[in-house]
Amino acid sequence: MPTLLIKHAYIVTMDDHQRELPDGGLFVRDGFIEQVGPTAELPAEADEVLDLSGHVLLPGLINTHHHFYQTLTRVVPAAQDANLFNWLTTLYPIWARLTPDDIFISTQTALTELALSGCTTASDHLYLFPNGSKLDDEIAAAKEVGLRLQASRGSMSLGQSEGGLPPDSVVDSETHILKDSQRVIETYHDPNPGAMTQIVLAPCSPFSVTSELMRESAKLARQYGVHLHTHLAETEDEEQFCLERFGRRPVGYMQEVNWVGEDVWFAHAVWVNDKEIGVFARHKCGVAHCPSSNMRLASGIAPVKQYRTAGVNVGLGVDGSASNDGSHLLAEVRQAMLLARVKEGITGFSRSNDPERKLLTARDALYLGTRGGAAVLGRSDIGSLEPGKCADFFAIHLDRIEYAGAAVHDPVAAMVFCQPVRVDYTVVGGRFVVRDGNLITLDEQALVEKHNRAAKRLFAGER
Ligand SMILES: [Zn+2]
Repeated sequence: MPTLLIKHAYIVTMDDHQRELPDGGLFVRDGFIEQVGPTAELPAEADEVLDLSGHVLLPGLINTHHHFYQTLTRVVPAAQDANLFNWLTTLYPIWARLTPDDIFISTQTALTELALSGCTTASDHLYLFPNGSKLDDEIAAAKEVGLRLQASRGSMSLGQSEGGLPPDSVVDSETHILKDSQRVIETYHDPNPGAMTQIVLAPCSPFSVTSELMRESAKLARQYGVHLHTHLAETEDEEQFCLERFGRRPVGYMQEVNWVGEDVWFAHAVWVNDKEIGVFARHKCGVAHCPSSNMRLASGIAPVKQYRTAGVNVGLGVDGSASNDGSHLLAEVRQAMLLARVKEGITGFSRSNDPERKLLTARDALYLGTRGGAAVLGRSDIGSLEPGKCADFFAIHLDRIEYAGAAVHDPVAAMVFCQPVRVDYTVVGGRFVVRDGNLITLDEQALVEKHNRAAKRLFAGER
């Protein structure tokens, strides 16, 4: 069994005591953490020893919402300045041209960006399968990069002709969706600690699937013990759609179709009232907060502070790359901290004389990106650096221009307050994915060239 010893790093454990070890280390055996503590208390030798003096080291960041394929439609001119529904209707016809190769390439691009920003586990929501594409294409691509993947088998079944938003050309039959969902669960889902691949069932949104498919997907997921994910309460347009079609607000609709429970997490959840926050708390539903996307599409500001006060699990997501337009998860941690402060400003922080009223801190935001994400995905084997957990972590060298004058006060806050950087090390299950600032599992430059070719072809309309 290979062992790995990390020493002399500034370690942020994210354990229940929020321990930070200024001269700390990790001892890893066979992909799991055996010891974490002061360097002096760890074994002196291992198969590989890495001295990370001058680095800050954290549990790997966890991305709880993405659409990898959208890396191929970043910054499309006609979709740059649109709200969600207009943005979607502009992009659906382009996405209808995606091929299996496109799914493969875009998965590797998104995961490369994520790895270089400290992410070790990513959830992806793939909900259209044009031209023979399959979830298998994404899973195969992810394997080569080396991050853990929560692959969501998404779906759309409510086309325009039935009153849905997507064109009929990108929706699928419900029989086929359910059959394929069962196939991917049986083929790929690993329920064990340290799993590299897990499957999630994820009908896309209230305005693109029927109530029947929501109910049937929940039944199937629970039969196999896999989690459920969907977009919810992202915009006021969606709220209006739900009121008109189902006679309920989005959260009420989820209750009606049996989509509440600790096995369910929702992307965005911006437009919720206090009662609905209470529903999430009571049923232990999770929220994937996607601040950049919510700003990009002018969707609104999710009530993250209220969620935390109510005890709702909140993780972070970069969301699809066509509405971010990046997959830098550490940057998303920063956005979460800043956007929570904008909301505080709107609700009167600057006029408040209450000294107890606190802003979301850098460490709070990092918690969302690590422990929060693990809780949202229902994984107890990741999210913190503790004995028995997966050896998933990233490290950043502090002696750099972006942190000059900042890390000397507080290296942890510097990572969030200062300009987001490319990380120096990303390790998943004890295996290096990024080393000395470079992705080592794939040729990054060759990937950029392949990706650019695919994006141009897709935009131009050729198959
Ligand atoms: Zn999304």
